[in-house]
Amino acid sequence: MMMNTHELTTFIQIWLKGKGLYTGRIDGDFGPKTKQAVAQLNKVPDNWSDRRKLVGAVQVICHEMGVDAGKIDGYYGPTTDNAYQRAAFKQKEGQEPPIWRPEDINQAKIWPKAYTSEFDSFFGPRATNMVRLTSPYPLRIAWNPNQIVQSFSIHEKVKDSAERVLTEALKHYGLDGIKKLRLDYFGGCFNKRRIRGGTKWSMHSWAVAIDFDPSNNQLRWGRDKATFARQEYEAWWKMWEAEGWTSLGRQRNFDWMHVQAADI
Ligand SMILES: [Zn+2]
Repeated sequence: MMMNTHELTTFIQIWLKGKGLYTGRIDGDFGPKTKQAVAQLNKVPDNWSDRRKLVGAVQVICHEMGVDAGKIDGYYGPTTDNAYQRAAFKQKEGQEPPIWRPEDINQAKIWPKAYTSEFDSFFGPRATNMVRLTSPYPLRIAWNPNQIVQSFSIHEKVKDSAERVLTEALKHYGLDGIKKLRLDYFGGCFNKRRIRGGTKWSMHSWAVAIDFDPSNNQLRWGRDKATFARQEYEAWWKMWEAEGWTSLGRQRNFDWMHVQAADI
């Protein structure tokens, strides 16, 4: 397990300084002043090596910050590393890091699974049962942002659900936030076509999928590149997931532009 002594020391110095236990410089150097501050924690044994003391201090501080670092043993294993990464994010950003494991996503079970007979009987044939959804905020056509639309075609069974999400998003982010996050960049809903890079019909063919800001969330991009994977979109995805919609980005880490009212 890789550990960066300088980084870990900086992390503990910032925390110790915040608690008034350390008055030296934040320099990433595990020197006498830092060691003295660690000793004041009274949780790291004095007879440990410097390296173990440093790791022990990281573990103690993780616990103090509400992040479980397991046993305080002074050894830098995967549990400590994971705890440290989380705690360091909290220290830097002032909030929890974004979740990314699909196992952690609380998605309501509402819609049928794609490409099943249940799906077919629930939604009917492609390109049928469509209604207009009037968006609570103006949408820009993603590939021609000067063109503003206020409504779009969508399957009647998912219309109310999508409308609730957009309404809630507007309430949560405000119009300025919506614009800043480019949640008003509309990449399309109904489109009778095959999936890209596959042979099956796209969920867009039933008008039960919507794309947003495709240029910043391209089909093959993962969370390292797609803007919709960032922390500020966490609330956006939670709103969709509460309504049972599936984000392929959140579940499969591609096609972050896309959200669909069908399980995968
Ligand atoms: Zn899509």
